[in-house]
Amino acid sequence: MIGWVRIVGLGPGDEALWTRQVSDTLAQATDVVGYIPYVNRVADRDGLVKHASDNRLEVDRAQQALTMATEGRRVAVVSSGDPGVFAMASAVFEAVEAGPPEWRALDIQVQPGITAMLAASAACGAPLGHDFCAINLSDNLKPWEVIERRLHLAAEADFAMAFYNPRSASRPEGFARALTVLNEACGDNRPMIFARNVSLPDQTIRIVPLPDTTPDMADMRTVVLLGSSRTRIIERDGAPIVYTPRSI
Ligand code: SAH
Repeated sequence: MIGWVRIVGLGPGDEALWTRQVSDTLAQATDVVGYIPYVNRVADRDGLVKHASDNRLEVDRAQQALTMATEGRRVAVVSSGDPGVFAMASAVFEAVEAGPPEWRALDIQVQPGITAMLAASAACGAPLGHDFCAINLSDNLKPWEVIERRLHLAAEADFAMAFYNPRSASRPEGFARALTVLNEACGDNRPMIFARNVSLPDQTIRIVPLPDTTPDMADMRTVVLLGSSRTRIIERDGAPIVYTPRSI
């Protein structure tokens, strides 16, 4: 048997948002590797071995997947959303670059998924309809000074923004600092969107003017979007529509 590694994106949660390519890969895999809740999203079947690990163990997980592929296993490495967005694809390639030469000869493919910011954007309109950027607010793998500088520059460039990993129990103060920086740098009442558990049955979308936001509005199940200075809200019966026009 010829082994392979497919690094696949499971989207924001709802299985209807899996691509057919990802479904086919999961049907052919002998092994699924990933963070426990994502591995649990894949149904059990005969011949499929699940290797679920804790969130911090990305490098171990990548090495395990590559090792199994050299032994002829067909390994699906699963991420939520898209595997190339703050997720396992880079972890696997870091392992390949640092690892033994035979790993470079493996059949490795990245298979995209719908990332959280795009699912969140779709759920409230089109806030990312003009130029935007995505920033990971976790300072686990980068210093806070880098985050703060990027927030300033993104505001100066008038990008709409998407924030991943906004706030965790181990870093409760980071998001409060981000809100302070953004309020100073933006200085207006553009909308911030708190999209939690997007595409799941308990999805919530909260639209709040930036000056009225508080840190407790976000947690690790939330992706946060911030409009640009030109982002508009269409009020109507029911949920408002948030969008950013295509032209300046
Ligand atoms: N690779 C993933 C992101 C991993 S980082 C992707 O492309 O979506 C984890 C962060 O993603 C979470 O802290 C949260 O900010 C966001 N996220 C993932 N799934 C989400 C969902 N269903 N609803 C809201 N945010 C989500």
